[in-house]
Amino acid sequence: MYREMIDPDIVTKFSLMLVQVHKVVIVAHVSPDGDAIGSSLGMAHFLRAMGKKAFVIVPNAFPAFLKWMPGSKDIMIYDRYKPFADKLIEEAQLICCMDFNGLKRIEALAIPIEASKAPKIMIDHHPNPDNFCDINISIPAASSTSEITLRLILAMHQFRRISLEAAQCIYTGMMTDTGGFTYNSNDAELYGFISMLIGKGIDKDDIYRKVFHTYSESRLRLMGYVLENMKVYDCHASLMTLTRDEQGRYDYSKGDSEGFVNIPLQIKGSKLSCFLREDTERAIVKVSLRSVGKFSCTEMAEQFFDGGGHLNASGGEIKGTMDQAIARWEEALEAFRSKLTDSEEVKLDTSKEENKEN
Ligand code: 5GP
Ligand code: MN
Repeated sequence: MYREMIDPDIVTKFSLMLVQVHKVVIVAHVSPDGDAIGSSLGMAHFLRAMGKKAFVIVPNAFPAFLKWMPGSKDIMIYDRYKPFADKLIEEAQLICCMDFNGLKRIEALAIPIEASKAPKIMIDHHPNPDNFCDINISIPAASSTSEITLRLILAMHQFRRISLEAAQCIYTGMMTDTGGFTYNSNDAELYGFISMLIGKGIDKDDIYRKVFHTYSESRLRLMGYVLENMKVYDCHASLMTLTRDEQGRYDYSKGDSEGFVNIPLQIKGSKLSCFLREDTERAIVKVSLRSVGKFSCTEMAEQFFDGGGHLNASGGEIKGTMDQAIARWEEALEAFRSKLTDSEEVKLDTSKEENKEN
């Protein structure tokens, strides 16, 4: 048996709600990642197995390495199919908000979602959720929204309705949000869940290859280039950058720099990694932060980059050029220098209790 992380009253409320609805719209955050897509498709497959009509709508495109996922071809990209998506949202009897904690995270999609009179349920693990849903299943202690989705289905005693396709999607979300079970992954129950999903027929090794080993030659060369230019500071931090011009030179396509920010944490003693990438559509620089131990990326992202996220993985953005972004980052680094160099603050600790915070 697994521990009860979702309030049983909420499980009952959601079960009763499901009985009454037929058309469900599922939405996930902008620049959807493996967990956003995995939890959304997992939920969609589950609802279809319950006889519902379920549609997944995301604000913008998602990376090519997720396009093998069963059901991904039917995902509606809001910035391409707005009128059709607006109609589906208007007709929806229930809206599932997956892997985001505030309407700001779904950009233009927030307008029809906010206007909809359908009940909304949040299923998410980002801290400090906004109050925009009727039912909130917000569990920051969970390693992924996909894990919470599975816990919810189990709590409703509906595991038999999880198909192989649903299991593949849920597993993908659990795997990507833990870096292939290398961080936030010390909860013993996770491995029980993996075992249950393997029981549904998933090939976990094949999923790993499909997600992590599908890169183009140009991505690997870009990685080499970005690493060559990496700057390492004397306070256990590092910076990597990628301008629009450099993206052009390396035939960059969306998702090509996914995961780069994690690499500098392989340096012994490294505590904070920052990756700055000029956006191709807006005059902003996208910020990605990753940390090890107690150093809070969220605090830095909120204070300096108009962003947020998790303790060890956050993001945000800076309006302006790369030079301005680098200056802003170095300002942030100065402000947080003592937290990075104070050994008590950022004690590298991999104990179970520590990791549960993430
Ligand atoms: P990534 O570095 O992979 O883009 O994002 C890491 C984490 O930070 C994710 O959990 C994501 O939800 C969060 N995040 C990324 N960008 C933003 C942002 O602009 N605002 C907020 N609030 N969170 C972000
Ligand atoms: Mn997630």
